[in-house]
Amino acid sequence: MKPAPFAYDRPRELAAALSLLAESNGAAKVIAGGQSLGPMLNLRLAAPERIVDITAIPELKQAEIDGDELVLGACITHADIEDGRVPDVTRGAMRGVAANIAYRAVRNRGTLGGSLSHADPAADWLSALAAFGGSVTVSGPTVTRKVAIAEFATGALQSCLRPDELVVSIHIPKRAASAEWCYVKTCRKTGEFAHGLCAVLIDPEHGTARIVIGAIDAAPILISCPEEMFGGRIAGDYKQTFDARAGDHLLAEAGIINAAHRHIHLTVLKRAIQEAG
Ligand code: FAD
Repeated sequence: MKPAPFAYDRPRELAAALSLLAESNGAAKVIAGGQSLGPMLNLRLAAPERIVDITAIPELKQAEIDGDELVLGACITHADIEDGRVPDVTRGAMRGVAANIAYRAVRNRGTLGGSLSHADPAADWLSALAAFGGSVTVSGPTVTRKVAIAEFATGALQSCLRPDELVVSIHIPKRAASAEWCYVKTCRKTGEFAHGLCAVLIDPEHGTARIVIGAIDAAPILISCPEEMFGGRIAGDYKQTFDARAGDHLLAEAGIINAAHRHIHLTVLKRAIQEAG
């Protein structure tokens, strides 16, 4: 199928893109890499009156380290990260995530901002960057706000973005020297969306952990009391103290009620804990 007809704009300034969105009263859609929106247009699951292409806005392609965080423009592609064309504060963790997204053709075009905005629970960045404690800067016609990535998705394919807002940049805090990391996803075939995924950033020296479970029917879950899976405290022996039954209980409490699904997520979680380093 072909998309329904639409007007097309490719502004060169952020303010112009925001004006176009504001003028359109919800009838416009932003396009970045087009890797999700393209198929939706072709299948007519989306039929916007106007497409605002944001890929010519230089500000959205900037990458810099600002103090203790990395700030990436929304139009940085997965391949930019995979190839090391942008700085890194995660000691290679983001590069590893990027390299395992879909296929190279998708990674060449798909963007960080587009992936987060699409809010697919099986998307890699949503879970990986929530585990890193990342946030996004969102701009609208009058207000710019910062939202934690762990709170950005409000459901499957739903986010807190309003129709006249854009994700402008993504902020990733520097990984502490003592923080151990693992990202595990399982898919039937390489390059497919995951059936289970888990991102773990665990710091035994500081007794903290951020554990995110994605590829569920809702927004990815940031486990709120992760120490409960480790007998009440997180320390250097966390791989030994990990209690799978407590993990299963936390996943059920977090809303994964189907036992078969929970089994998949628990298996992925166990693997992520055991392989963290
Ligand atoms: P687009 O398709 O251009 O836009 C997607 C949505 O986000 C649209 O609603 C658009 O309006 C909105 N949007 C885009 N940018 C912004 C912005 N800056 N501000 C506000 N709204 C915005 N992803 C994974 O994580 N893992 C995978 O394994 C994976 N496999 C894939 C396999 C295939 C075959 C394909 C086609 C895609 C796959 N993807 C996967 C998704 C891909 O990685 C893209 O990241 C994703 O499609 C969205 O990025 P995009 O830049 O293409 O966004």
